[in-house]
Amino acid sequence: MNKLITGMLLASSFLASAAEPEFTSKQLQQVEQLRQSASNSDLSYQLLESLTTEVGPRLPGTENDKKAVAWAQAKFKELGFDKVWLEEATFPEWRRFSENGKILTPSEQPLHLTALGHSVSTPKEGITGEVVLFETLDELIAAPKNSLKGKIAYINYRMNRHIDGNGYGPAVRARSTGSVEAAKKGATGYMMRSVSTAHHRFAHTGGSHYKDGVTKIPNVTIANPDADQIARLIALDKKVTVNINVQTEDRGQGRGYNVIGQFNGTQNPEQYVLIGGHLDSWDLGTGALDDGAGVALTMAAAKHISEIKRPKRSVRVVLFAAEELGLWGAKAYFKQHAKELNNIVAAAESDFGADVVYGFESNVSAESLPVVRAIAKELSALNVEYIAKNGARGGPDLIPLRNTEGAAIFDLHQDGTDYFDYHHTADDTLDKVDPEKLKQNTAAYAVFAFMAADAKTTIKPKPVKK
Ligand SMILES: [Zn+2]
Repeated sequence: MNKLITGMLLASSFLASAAEPEFTSKQLQQVEQLRQSASNSDLSYQLLESLTTEVGPRLPGTENDKKAVAWAQAKFKELGFDKVWLEEATFPEWRRFSENGKILTPSEQPLHLTALGHSVSTPKEGITGEVVLFETLDELIAAPKNSLKGKIAYINYRMNRHIDGNGYGPAVRARSTGSVEAAKKGATGYMMRSVSTAHHRFAHTGGSHYKDGVTKIPNVTIANPDADQIARLIALDKKVTVNINVQTEDRGQGRGYNVIGQFNGTQNPEQYVLIGGHLDSWDLGTGALDDGAGVALTMAAAKHISEIKRPKRSVRVVLFAAEELGLWGAKAYFKQHAKELNNIVAAAESDFGADVVYGFESNVSAESLPVVRAIAKELSALNVEYIAKNGARGGPDLIPLRNTEGAAIFDLHQDGTDYFDYHHTADDTLDKVDPEKLKQNTAAYAVFAFMAADAKTTIKPKPVKK
């Protein structure tokens, strides 16, 4: 062979390998098969129905929480996962026993309220006081010292409705630390409008925190129609007094488990795609949207993948413990795996209800964008749009993973327009889940996880910021 031809052959083989696609046509056929099987299966709905019916609410540390752990272990095994195991997590355990309230003046009427997580109890007869209204947390923070002595501080902030739930963060500020700010001004109780977009008369619970050195005062939210009523009365210049009665218990350190199931990869089993949700839920509903759906659809997605083939890398489903009380399962998981975070090639958590996935976004190094685009192309058949901002933040349980060696994080953005109508209420129940939409979610997670696990090149995160 003369030199010229050898050179041409070398050049063409170099060109061919440079332009070689991330996925072969055979792999793309498998993706198509997977998309079809996941889109036509009601496995995720069956799992969700089983969890929310046979276990129900799953407040961390309760008997139901333990039942949920046993449920998840049994289901992983039943579905044929190669490895199923538990990892311990501890958290501050808390219980709600009873709660009720009423407006006393100017005219007696019931108040639909709920205690926020970790709220202390009132005395047996409750607390009674005049309501002082603030529109925002900042207004409360600006109130003069001791100005709320013997009063009940009330924040009337209303969260806005948006497809991506962007009203939640600003509203949650008042939930997290409102009672601390109120107590600093001398208030005997703290009350706020629910972090909610709903019109129903359920109050929305959620996480809240006390601060060492600041008096712990009872900490409640009220339903939107009740919040409107109080705002109208105050606008009429009426003196509004209320009675709040919540009975709860701080039980010290509790113990729970992350439940993990894995299908092993065929070439690099130590590397894995992490998908999952959180297994715990608030106690008021049955945790169907938050986060039974995320649990069920990621378990089902992995199962559907295994029925097509085992990808090169492992697919791991992590069901995190005690998310609602402060991401305790996630903190434990990423601490336990701190030395091997670079084994995580891609991570996505489903924790935003069960409406359709409309957008796909990555957070990866520039060199991995071709793989991301190849995955996005396959997701478009499920009406999922590629969001090319490369700024995904992941679900709440992936917060500890951000800015680490394992932080190739993905968002499968779900339509959250209605999510905060039900979130953290007694109304978070199975009937709110549309089985067809859950299938679309399952298929999207299956396609994403399969392709990330079976890609030619390993997905890399952005360099860690020092
Ligand atoms: Zn959640």
